[in-house]
Amino acid sequence: MSWHVDDADVREYAHGDLAPPRLWSVETHLAACADCRAALSAHVAPAEIDAGWARLDAELDAPRPGPAESLLIRMGVADHTARLLAATPVLRRSWLGAVALTLLLAVGAGLAASPLMLLATAPLLPLAGVAVSFGPGLDPTYETAVVAPMHTFRLLMVRTVAVLSTTTALSGLASLALPSFGLAVLGWLLPALALTATGVALTARLGPVLAPALVGGGWIALVALNVVLSSGTPVPFTAAGQGTAAAVAVTATALLAVVRDRFDSGRPLGPSLRSLPFTARRLS
Ligand SMILES: [Zn+2]
Repeated sequence: MSWHVDDADVREYAHGDLAPPRLWSVETHLAACADCRAALSAHVAPAEIDAGWARLDAELDAPRPGPAESLLIRMGVADHTARLLAATPVLRRSWLGAVALTLLLAVGAGLAASPLMLLATAPLLPLAGVAVSFGPGLDPTYETAVVAPMHTFRLLMVRTVAVLSTTTALSGLASLALPSFGLAVLGWLLPALALTATGVALTARLGPVLAPALVGGGWIALVALNVVLSSGTPVPFTAAGQGTAAAVAVTATALLAVVRDRFDSGRPLGPSLRSLPFTARRLS
């Protein structure tokens, strides 16, 4: 090779000051000439090269957003929120499948006998969805959730809203399959809000496993007891029961606003949600 990039041009290129068209010819030559690349490296600080590699590394490792995440970003949701939403376990296909199957069985029971199965099951779905949205076993973004610069409370709210709206939409669709029962078939809606709000509010004190288990168990016991004791409409689905459910939902939401700081204090969610040694072990 007879021609080489002169030293002034190498220096300008290294500092990003070289303008086209000289930039293009220098760049083309650098790609082919090891001598000039060696000369160039003398002008670039090692720290700058390391930083460049780190940026490239991060770019290559960055996961590509899936269709749901892209859609959320296009709708104006901040990209970190979109990632957490899209990766909410209950929004993944397997979970949506389980929810749909449960509703299908409930509708089957409704068509065969009474809508009670749907009324009793539908409120449990968002509660279960929120419960499984927090746990190292089921959450693919668990590590992100633990180290994310997002408050635990905000994360919990984002996921609760995502889970609640998805399961409510699916349960609403299921209700359409039982038109002969009229609006009474939507009796699950207020209990669903009451159970989810109560479960989330109690999570601050009892933790992410015990709280939804107690609330869900309490609901099942209440409905079962009503069915055993009388043959009429179980109390939760009467006008009085619906009013109580609405009152419980409002009270639990107010309680949640009061205890919100507890979610970010590291207790008692601390051991399971903020175990940094666990994260460090996974990353190393
Ligand atoms: Zn050269």
